[in-house]
This record gives sequence, C-alpha cells and structure tokens, in this order.
Amino acid sequence: MKCPLCGLEFREQDGLEGCKGCALSGTCSLIKCPNCGYEVPKEPGLIKFIRSLKRQKEIKK
Ligand SMILES: [Zn+2]
Repeated sequence: MKCPLCGLEFREQDGLEGCKGCALSGTCSLIKCPNCGYEVPKEPGLIKFIRSLKRQKEIKK
C-alpha cells in the first residue's frame, strides 16, 4: 500500500507492526507508515481490488 502523506510504498504487515504499541492492544484498524508515522485506515478489500487492477494497467503501458 502507499502512504498518502509521504508516498512511501510499504507492506500492510509492516504498517501493522508499527502500531503494536498503541493503547488499543495492537489491534486497532490503522496501518502506520514506517517512514513518517502517518496512520492510515485499513483499506476495504474492494478498494484494494480496484487498485490492483489499476496497477496491472500501468504495467501494460
Ligand atoms: Zn508516510
């Protein structure tokens, strides 16, 4: 996924680990950017699916 603030691309899993120490016992629904610390809400599956389609189109160019 991509951080909307700094534009860094990182794995969702890495972002989840960045939030382990938060007050909600590590299972809040935010993904933390490893670069700038910006917390992004988890993307619903549908949005992810659309993004992956867009990405495939970009590769074909
Ligand atoms: Zn960021």
